[in-house]
Amino acid sequence: MYELMVNSRFSAAHNLRNCGGKCEGLHGHNWRGEGFVRAEALGRGGMVLDFRILREETEKVLEALDHHYLNELPHFQKEEPSSENIARYIYEALEERLLPYGQKPHRVTAWESEGACASYLGAEQ
Ligand SMILES: [Zn+2]
Repeated sequence: MYELMVNSRFSAAHNLRNCGGKCEGLHGHNWRGEGFVRAEALGRGGMVLDFRILREETEKVLEALDHHYLNELPHFQKEEPSSENIARYIYEALEERLLPYGQKPHRVTAWESEGACASYLGAEQ
């Protein structure tokens, strides 16, 4: 099994409603989003997927979050903009973007600090 990963950063503000702690107040993070793709066999050029494609598509997804107050985005009005939900948001957006390339994310990880991250692995893994 082969696995690729690209990561990119974005900065955004959020507040977590009803978490019962200081995260209820407005604050920001410099997140790092990581997108992983796996394959048993290599395709054209001896690659799982061209890094350029994985990087461009991941960055397009993260651009939609960068310098936003996440709670104001339509997606996060329905659910809390926690790192867990951010990882799932990135996963689902990246899943759609990789469809034309015949790939899907294996995992997306959202790092909210150097020592804390949450991952989403899709529904059936
Ligand atoms: Zn936070």
